[in-house]
Amino acid sequence: MRVTISAKLKLRHTPEQKAMLDAVSLAYRDALNFASKEAFKLDKTSSAPKIHKAAYETLRERFGLGAQLACTVERQVAATYKAQWTKLKQNLSAREKGFTKRRYKGLDSAPKFVSRTLEYQYGRDYSWKKDGRVSISTLRGRTVLEFDGYQKHLDAIAAGCEMGAAKLYYQKSKKQYYLIVALNLELPDPRPTDHKNVVGVDVGQRYHFVATDQDGRSLFEKGAATRQRKDQFTRTRKSLQRKGTRSATRRLVALSSRERRFVADRNHVLSQMLLTRFPGSIFGLEDLTNIRERTEGRRSPKASKKAKRAKRHRSQWSFAELQTMLAYKAPLHVALAVRVDANYTSQCCPRCGHCSKANRPNAGLEFVCEVCGDQGHADRVASVNIGLRTMLVRQDWMSTGALSMRPDVSDNEAKAARLSRYTELRWSPDANPRL
Ligand SMILES: [Zn+2]
Repeated sequence: MRVTISAKLKLRHTPEQKAMLDAVSLAYRDALNFASKEAFKLDKTSSAPKIHKAAYETLRERFGLGAQLACTVERQVAATYKAQWTKLKQNLSAREKGFTKRRYKGLDSAPKFVSRTLEYQYGRDYSWKKDGRVSISTLRGRTVLEFDGYQKHLDAIAAGCEMGAAKLYYQKSKKQYYLIVALNLELPDPRPTDHKNVVGVDVGQRYHFVATDQDGRSLFEKGAATRQRKDQFTRTRKSLQRKGTRSATRRLVALSSRERRFVADRNHVLSQMLLTRFPGSIFGLEDLTNIRERTEGRRSPKASKKAKRAKRHRSQWSFAELQTMLAYKAPLHVALAVRVDANYTSQCCPRCGHCSKANRPNAGLEFVCEVCGDQGHADRVASVNIGLRTMLVRQDWMSTGALSMRPDVSDNEAKAARLSRYTELRWSPDANPRL
């Protein structure tokens, strides 16, 4: 099984080398903005060949980029336009359905590139020297740099693992360049017998996650402190937006990247927590594709302040990012992350199988089964249900040899069959794969 991880390397640049990196990264950014304007003139095209035709000469001559970097600029601009078109189409369909009234403005003018981020192709723009240094191309030929990084990453590089593209990234506050390299690691293929433990993970607001393994051991991770911090970000952002001055805009940019880093850091910590607490497990997570449309529905003009805040909380926390990080880190810990259907995980009774909205009296934190009277913490019940579905994934893997990493949501019939299988699930010792 191949896993791609990204290694962040801190480049030890001399003042002269920093000047070279400044020159190439600024030229690259200007080139992106130039190519973006050209693409805009060509009916906002997302075709790299069209952009190539219009911009290549200028990219080489005026911006002094090498052939490889010039092509990367064209591809990157094309990809940006493609993403913008996708967003525009999504926005159109959302407006048709009445989910939003806002018009997507991303393509009103040529997308502007502000960050100094440059993409290098392995073997063409960057390569490793035998002495462990890295050689990267600049406007004035190659420069060779020493670097620091995590030992695991350095070992993988020294062992000659396969490389992907690298990003040169400038952190303004530290006046420091980093090279972020994609490393492709070849890991042994996972086998069901290596993963005897199954853990269901329910992500949410009150608790970042509640995880329960097949022996019923649970791990609750409270979300309140993080939520407060997020609210603080929201308040500051609001007041800055109201001000609307130039310096306020600058502050806003800084704030948003700080906020993003904060969320990413939390998610790193949380995923690491799960992996160390339940080593070698199969983690079952709800498939959250389209979760927002499903849980939010139409915007209600009469929503109370409290309801609006709750909605903001639900939509703001990056559950998807936590899941992605867990899935990404899992193979490195001989663990696995799979997705299961999210339907009714908080309404079904894991003991008797009775599934009803009324199992959650007053839609509260408590789960009380109407039929068998089984009681419990609602988020924990959800994690048990997710765990049960994950056991089913493992059983299928054992019997068919094929592992489904995520449910096929496009096939309605198959989905209905899965949902009816779920109704057979009971939380009992027979479901325990260890017994
Ligand atoms: Zn019950």
